[in-house]
Amino acid sequence: MQSLSETQPRHDKCGRYPEAVTVEDFQSNLAAVRARIEAACRRAGRDPTEVRLLPVSKTKPEASLRQAYAAGCRLLGENKVQEAFGKWKAMQDLADLRWSVIGHLQTNKTKLVAQFASEFQALDSMRVAEALDRRLQIEGRSLDVFVQVNTSSEASKYGLAPDAVSDFIQELPAFSALRVRGLMTLALFAAEAERVRPCFVLLRELRDRLRQDAPPGIVLDELSMGMSGDFEIAIEEGATVVRVGQAIFGARTSPDAYYWPGEGNPKEPSI
Ligand SMILES: *Cc1c(COP(=O)(O)O)cnc(C)c1O
Repeated sequence: MQSLSETQPRHDKCGRYPEAVTVEDFQSNLAAVRARIEAACRRAGRDPTEVRLLPVSKTKPEASLRQAYAAGCRLLGENKVQEAFGKWKAMQDLADLRWSVIGHLQTNKTKLVAQFASEFQALDSMRVAEALDRRLQIEGRSLDVFVQVNTSSEASKYGLAPDAVSDFIQELPAFSALRVRGLMTLALFAAEAERVRPCFVLLRELRDRLRQDAPPGIVLDELSMGMSGDFEIAIEEGATVVRVGQAIFGARTSPDAYYWPGEGNPKEPSI
């Protein structure tokens, strides 16, 4: 049996995922990802029903999203609000398709998120919490949220510093339209498991610590961590949500720098 410490990131494979162009492609990619999830769960002694797969459709055209829907996807992750909003508008006919916004949000875009998203995974400032709550109250809606934590200490990554999360969470009960579900992170983008895994361990240990004195109404059950290249490691470390794009939709042609600040890609200034 393979030991957990042998699981390696697969970022090198991501560029080679072929584009899914038929519903059957989506079905077989989803089945392959689910098989990887199950294998990781077996190694870690976990029940696969504890891990939710969030397909990430960013950069992909509406036609691909419709095929993913036909293959059974009912919740799609997008990280640019404007792009997500446009897709939502274009696919109103798919009444049970829901949207998860997984990327950094500026306060001037909270209005859009409040209108269409059912989940927001990148909460990392009080100003966004306030603006989002106010907009949601106007819409008469509520939203599942995850607090994003910067577990890699890279200046380019969004998210709260781990030691700032406790104080932040204590303030969240003031925002009754935000249903806090847990924590989210992006690990260091590295080929070596020994650099990636500590990010996931940090998030789990932080969640376990914060859960003990979470304020009333704040539930910290969820850990959203892991993507196409590293979700097996994340599952071994306790992920309850994995956000998987390329392994389902195919490699992205647009540079990740545009969608996801990484090394050498300064993040957008917060207005
Ligand atoms: C793009 C993205 C993912 C998915 O990455 P893939 O390599 O396509 O699996 C996960 N999380 C966030 C926040 C993303 O922006």
